[in-house]
Amino acid sequence: MNKMRALVKRKAEPGIWMEDVPQPKAGMNEVLIKVEKTAICGTDLHIYKWDEWSQRTIKPGLVIGHEFVGRIVELGLGVDNYQVGDRVSAEGHLTCGQCRNCRAGRRHLCTQTRGIGVNRDGAFAEYISVPAQNLWLIPPQIPSEIAAFFDPYGNAAHCALSFDVVGEDVLITGAGPIGIIAAGICRYLGARHVVVTDVNDYRLSLAQRMGATHIVNVQRGTLTDAMKAQDIREGFDIGLEMSGNPKAFNDMLHHMYHGGRVALLGILPKDTRIDWDQVIFKGLHIKGIYGREMFETWYKMTQMVLGGLDLRPVLTHELGIEEFQKGFDLMASGECGKVVLDWN
Ligand code: NAD
Ligand code: ZN
Repeated sequence: MNKMRALVKRKAEPGIWMEDVPQPKAGMNEVLIKVEKTAICGTDLHIYKWDEWSQRTIKPGLVIGHEFVGRIVELGLGVDNYQVGDRVSAEGHLTCGQCRNCRAGRRHLCTQTRGIGVNRDGAFAEYISVPAQNLWLIPPQIPSEIAAFFDPYGNAAHCALSFDVVGEDVLITGAGPIGIIAAGICRYLGARHVVVTDVNDYRLSLAQRMGATHIVNVQRGTLTDAMKAQDIREGFDIGLEMSGNPKAFNDMLHHMYHGGRVALLGILPKDTRIDWDQVIFKGLHIKGIYGREMFETWYKMTQMVLGGLDLRPVLTHELGIEEFQKGFDLMASGECGKVVLDWN
């Protein structure tokens, strides 16, 4: 059996381990991909830290990772719409294909979804096998270091495309990689103002480079002041919650305009309390966001990049895979945008 290098969650404790493991095979309706580049997601960091969610969800021995790009090296039986050599990324949610939503073409709402690098071996490896129906072909004009993080770009795009942002004032709470990308998308789509909050100045400066018109470090400034500075009189029209922080979410609700629309991506603690008056009396629309639409979001993402949306500002670190520990340390420090690891 051929062996390959992979980052494995070997032990039920903090850390990640580079090991030689058996190379996967392309099963029926699957392809085998030689991984070129991967990006580290917040989820990978949760697994690295072995937090309460990981302990509940991850079986030790798992190859982690789901943000990747690579080339097809083998087609499994039944795959006839791809070729060896195609450069691809993939949707990390494996859906059942049987439930009502799947059959209606709403696969992002599948009730039986399983995750690559969470419930099944992932992409932080020299090779990964993936169902062909999850693949996304990357056009030659898009460089691999950008395609490597299409997955979180997809989260940002799914949120930003949920509502019409043209001419609107947008508030994004949380300048993690996804909030930073969302700022760029909203500007690209024609938002009037894009105000981004965080507690991390480095990340706020990345959001500004991506296109945020105003940034607020909430440890020093307030949204009320930001609104004054931007001549936003009555509140934000669109809110994208991308911090997972209850205080940020409540602050957002208090600064929304009546009839405003809010997308919730950040994963809030289960016991988060909000002022419901803000939702009810303002007639807010709130939409929960999980993943990205298969594959309409992927289509729009690709066309926006081909059309000129520049994702480079969020890509702060490119490392060789032997420097994986440095990559995880950077992610844990918060002093980074996207960290991409090269497997060649
Ligand atoms: P991240 O953790 O890197 O970013 C969160 C940011 O919020 C950080 O920069 C942090 O400094 C900032 N923050 C903390 N307190 C804040 C406050 N009071 N006000 C404003 N900002 C504050 O995460 P990410 O990878 O960019 O993802 C964003 C969120 O979306 C996370 O909560 C993540 O778990 C979640 N997520 C959800 C999905 C989904 O499908 N729903 C997918 C991916 C990520
Ligand atoms: Zn389903």
